[in-house]
Amino acid sequence: MTQTVKYLKDYTAPTHLVPKTDLLFEIEDTHTYVTATLHIEPQTSTQGGLKLHGDAELISLAINGEKQPENAYELDTANETLIIKNAPNIPFILTIETRVEPSKNKSFNGLYESGGNLYTQCEPEGFRKITFHPDRPDVMGEFTTEIRANADKFPILLSNGNKIRSGSLNDGRHFAVWHDPHVKPTYLFALVAGDLALTSDFFITQSGRRVEIEFYTRAEDTPQVPFAIEALKNSMKWDETRFGLEYDLDIYMVVAVGDFNMGAMENKGLNIFNTKYVLADSRTATDADFEGVEAVIAHEYFHNWTGNRVTCRDWFQLSLKEGLTVFRDQEFSGDRASRAVRRIENVKLLRTHQFAEDASPMAHPVRPASYVEMNNFYTMTVYEKGAEVVRMYHTFLGEEGFQKGMKLYFERHDGQAVTCDDFRAAMADANGFDFEQFALWYSQAGTPTLRVSGSLKDGKYILNVKQSLPDTPDMPSSAKQPMMMPLSIAFFDEKGAKIAFRQPENDETRQETVLTLNQAEQSFEFLIENANAVTPSLLRGFSAPVHLEFDYTNEQLALLLAHDDDEFARWEAGQTLFRRAIAENETALQNGNNPPEHTLLIHALRNILNDNEMDAAFKAMLLQVPAEAELWGERDNINPVLVAMAREALLDEIAHALHGELLANALNAREAENADKRGKEIEIYEYNPQDAGLRALQYACFPLIHRFDEVATIEQVFEHYDEMARKNMTHEWGVLSSINSNPSAKRDELLARFAAKFDDQALVMDKYFSLIACSRRADTLAQVQAALNHPRFALTNPNKVRALIGTFARNVPHFHAADGSGYAFVAEHIKKIDEFNPQVAAGLARAFNLLKRIEPQRQALMRAELDAIAALPNLSKDVREIVEKILA
Ligand code: ZN
Repeated sequence: MTQTVKYLKDYTAPTHLVPKTDLLFEIEDTHTYVTATLHIEPQTSTQGGLKLHGDAELISLAINGEKQPENAYELDTANETLIIKNAPNIPFILTIETRVEPSKNKSFNGLYESGGNLYTQCEPEGFRKITFHPDRPDVMGEFTTEIRANADKFPILLSNGNKIRSGSLNDGRHFAVWHDPHVKPTYLFALVAGDLALTSDFFITQSGRRVEIEFYTRAEDTPQVPFAIEALKNSMKWDETRFGLEYDLDIYMVVAVGDFNMGAMENKGLNIFNTKYVLADSRTATDADFEGVEAVIAHEYFHNWTGNRVTCRDWFQLSLKEGLTVFRDQEFSGDRASRAVRRIENVKLLRTHQFAEDASPMAHPVRPASYVEMNNFYTMTVYEKGAEVVRMYHTFLGEEGFQKGMKLYFERHDGQAVTCDDFRAAMADANGFDFEQFALWYSQAGTPTLRVSGSLKDGKYILNVKQSLPDTPDMPSSAKQPMMMPLSIAFFDEKGAKIAFRQPENDETRQETVLTLNQAEQSFEFLIENANAVTPSLLRGFSAPVHLEFDYTNEQLALLLAHDDDEFARWEAGQTLFRRAIAENETALQNGNNPPEHTLLIHALRNILNDNEMDAAFKAMLLQVPAEAELWGERDNINPVLVAMAREALLDEIAHALHGELLANALNAREAENADKRGKEIEIYEYNPQDAGLRALQYACFPLIHRFDEVATIEQVFEHYDEMARKNMTHEWGVLSSINSNPSAKRDELLARFAAKFDDQALVMDKYFSLIACSRRADTLAQVQAALNHPRFALTNPNKVRALIGTFARNVPHFHAADGSGYAFVAEHIKKIDEFNPQVAAGLARAFNLLKRIEPQRQALMRAELDAIAALPNLSKDVREIVEKILA
C-alpha cells in the first residue's frame, strides 16, 4: 500500500455527481455479487476523466448499457482507484459488477460476515470495498437497494430507508427492495442480511407521526434489548424538546453485532451497533455500561440531524458532525441525571486521553490539515475536544443564542455537505456575534495553557491572564496565534463565602462572570469591597479545554474544595491537591526517602467523608485520585513506574488515615441502597441514577478499605462474593475489581468462577479478560498470555482484543515493565492483528505514544519494538502512519 498524504488545502469540488445509486446484492454461499448502477452527472469538463474508488474484485463495467473493454479504463489496485478516461460529458449510466467474499473479511470494513450473518461498515471509506464509486461525502444521492439471498439462512434483509417490495424467488431464495428517500453520501449506506430476532416498539413524534422502532439481535439476546429501546425513545423525545428536531422516516432500525471496530454507526435509518452499546440487563451490565448504552444510542440518533441531514464536505471536517453530536449526547446525559457528575466525567476523559494525544506526536487540530489513513482520525481530539469547542459557542451565546445558531445552520444547510466554517458562520450570523478569531480552535493543535495571577489592592482585584500554546509536530508555538475563549470566574472570601464584585466598565454587581480571552496577555479589574483575602475560582465548569496554572496555596485549594459552589471547580481543587501530593511522593521516592504525609489533604478528605448531605455520586468523584496518564502532563523523562508508585503511596496513605471514615461511608451507602429493597419478595437491584450513585460511592471506598489489610480482606470478600454477585453486575464487578490485585490464590478462584458462570455471555467475558489485564499482580503478563488461549478469546474479535491487550497496554507498571516484556507483548500483537484488521492494530499502536517523553532506557526498548514494526514490508498504512509519526 502506497503512503499518500491527503491535504485539506488540496480540496477540490467533485467533477461528477451521483444523484442516484441503485444496488443489487446477490448473496451466494461464499461470495456476494454486487451490481451498482450509478447515475452520473458530469460537473465540469471531463478532461481528467471520471475517478472512482474501489477495492473490490471488478467483474465488468458498462456505460449506458454498453460493456467497456479493459482498455477503456485504468484500474490501479495499489491505490484503489479506477479512472474512466473518456467518460461521456453528459449524464450517463455506469453499471459496475463486483464480487466480494464477506467471510474472508476480518477488517470489519465494507461487507463482512459475523456469526453467519452479513453486515456493512462504510464510514469513512468502506463503501469502496463493496463497489466502485467516487465514495466521498460531498457526493450525495438517493439509494435503492435490492438484496437477494437464501430465505432460510438470511430471513432478514435490511437496508436504509423504507422497504418498498419483497417476495420469494426460485431455489429457496427471496428478495427485499429498500428505498431511502433522503440523499446521503456512501458512508451512510448500510446492509444487513441474516437470521436475527426482532424486538419492536414505536414512537409518536411531536407532530403526531408514528415511527416504528425495530431492534435486531441474536435470538438469545432479546431479553437484554428493552433498556436500549427506552434510551432511544428518550433520545427522540429530548431532541424534539431541546433542539426542536423530529425524526424523518417511518422506521428506525438498530442492529447489534459482536464483531465491530468501534462503538456504533449512524447509517441512515439503519444504525449498526457494537453489542456492547445495545445489550444490557442488570445481571450482565454495570451502571457504567447502562450509561454507556444510553449515551451511544443517543449519539447515533442525534447524528440523524447533525451528520446525516447535514453532513461533512470532506473528512477533514469530521468534527463538524462528531464534535457537535458528542456535545449533544453530553447535554442529553446531563439533562437525564447528575449534570455535574456527568460534566466531571467528560472533563476527566478529555484530560486523561485527549490532553495526552495533544501532547504526543499524534497531535492534530480539531480539523486536521492532513492524513494518510482517515480511520486514524476518529480521535479524542476530533470527538472530545471538538465537543468542547461546540460547548464554547454555547457558553458565549447561552442556550437561546446557541439554538438560534442551530436553527440557521439547518435553514441554510439541510441536505448539504458543509464545513466547520459554515457551522461557525451560522452561529455568528444568527447572533451578530464575531467568531472570526474563534476559527483558530479548528487549526491550532496542542492544549493551551493559561497562566493566571491575581492581586488585591485597595479594594481592587487585578487578574492577569497569559495564554500560550505548545509546539506540535505540525506547527511551532511561535507560529500560533492567541485564541478566543470563555473564562468563567468567581471569588471566595476566607470563610468560603462568594464575594460580590463589580467590573469598572459596568455598574452591575455580580457574583460570577464569564471573561472573554482573546489576547496573549490580558488584565481584568474587579472592584471588591470589604474583602481582605480573595481566592479566585477559575475556569468554572471547565469553560475552555486548557491547562490552568494559578499559584494557589494548599490552604486556598482546601477552601475551594470545601466551599466552591461550582462542582467542577470544587472537584478540580481536590484534583490539584492530589497531583501535588503525588508529585511530592515521586520526589521522595526518587531520593530514596519515604513518601511524606499530607495532613491538609487528609483533613480535607475527612471533612468530605463526614459530610452526610453530599450527593453520593459527587462524593465518589471527589475521592478519585487522578490516573497516571493524567499526571504525565507535558513532562519529559518520565519514569511511568515511579509515577505509578507515587500514586499508590498516596492511595495507601488515604486508606490508612481514613479507614474508619471510608468504611462508614461504604456501609451507609450500602444501607441506603438496600433500604427500599428489603422486605420485598425479590430484591431487585436495577439501574437508576440514585442507586448508581450509592454504588459508585461504595466502590470508591472499598478498594481503599481493602488496602488496609489485604489478607483479612480476601477471606471476607470470598465469603460474601455470591451474595453480592446475586444483586447485580455492578456489585459483582465492584467486588472483583476491589480485590483484583490481591496476591492470594482466592482471587484467581473468584475470577475463574466468574468466567465459568458467564461463559456464554460474550460481553461479560470481555470484563473477565479486562480484569486479568488490569491487575497489578506480579504475574499479570503470564495470566494475559494464558488468557490468549482461553476458548472464549479470539484475536479476530475487536472487543476481545481491546479487553485483554488494550487494557494491558494501559496497565502502567506492566506495559512499562523495565525489562521491556510489556512492550514486546503488545508489539507482537500489533503485528499479528495488522494482517487482518489494520484499524484495530493501529488503535493498539497508540500505546507507544509516550516514546519521546519517557526515560532513556525504556525509550530504547520501545523504539526497538517500533523499528521492528516499521520494517515490516506489508504493514498497513494505518499502523505505518501511527508508528512513523511516533518515531519521527
Ligand atoms: Zn459520532
